[in-house]
Amino acid sequence: MLNLILMGPPGAGKGTQAQRLTAEFKLPQISTGDLLRAAKQQGTELGKKAAGFMDNGKLVPDELVIGMVEERLQKGDTNAGFILDGFPRTVAQAQALSAMLEKHRMRVHRVLVFDVENREKLKERITGRWSCPKEGCGAVYHTTNKPPKVPGRCDNDGTALVQRPDDTIAKLGKRLGEYDSFAPAVIAYYKTLGLVEGMNGDLNPDVVYGQVKKAIGQ
Ligand code: AMP
Repeated sequence: MLNLILMGPPGAGKGTQAQRLTAEFKLPQISTGDLLRAAKQQGTELGKKAAGFMDNGKLVPDELVIGMVEERLQKGDTNAGFILDGFPRTVAQAQALSAMLEKHRMRVHRVLVFDVENREKLKERITGRWSCPKEGCGAVYHTTNKPPKVPGRCDNDGTALVQRPDDTIAKLGKRLGEYDSFAPAVIAYYKTLGLVEGMNGDLNPDVVYGQVKKAIGQ
């Protein structure tokens, strides 16, 4: 069993690495950002409550996100483990996760923290990012670093690619502010547990994936 947490500022490469891990180790990628965007699009109660926070680049309140993750972890596809991408983002979330896992005699095995020293690079990655909105696909492209074969269309299914409404310079500033306010305490929480491994998100995805595999002992 391998239970991983991926942390890092927006654009650090968490999603890309999570997709690779999912492909190789067949572990579900549980992205709270993706789950919240789906809830918002479906117009659920949760989606309606979360929308204003998300649109402003602010964190959605802990109790909403914690409930959503608890439900997701009960889906029955996590027997071999899971990859949490974008959760926990606060100490309260980290504590709630520990409690949830303890109930099932489970634990987190590694927390991979992706860092990118040059924040200009995050801007470039985020503002050039396009993704496939088709359910179950979610492939991510970049206008210069990873363009699709046909401009504006997903390589896998030809769906028209979309840009996230919060992937703008203005919203990125707010999202980074939230990361800098809350992430250090979460990292400290997991450091105390001896679970943190730093990843250099400045490097190209293949090299970073090598670091990831080393960190998880593969
Ligand atoms: P992401 O796709 O991880 O960048 O998340 C997009 C947005 O969803 C964030 O800017 C938050 O508004 C919200 N969000 C995602 N995960 C969390 C979380 N663990 N706690 C609070 N808000 C979250």
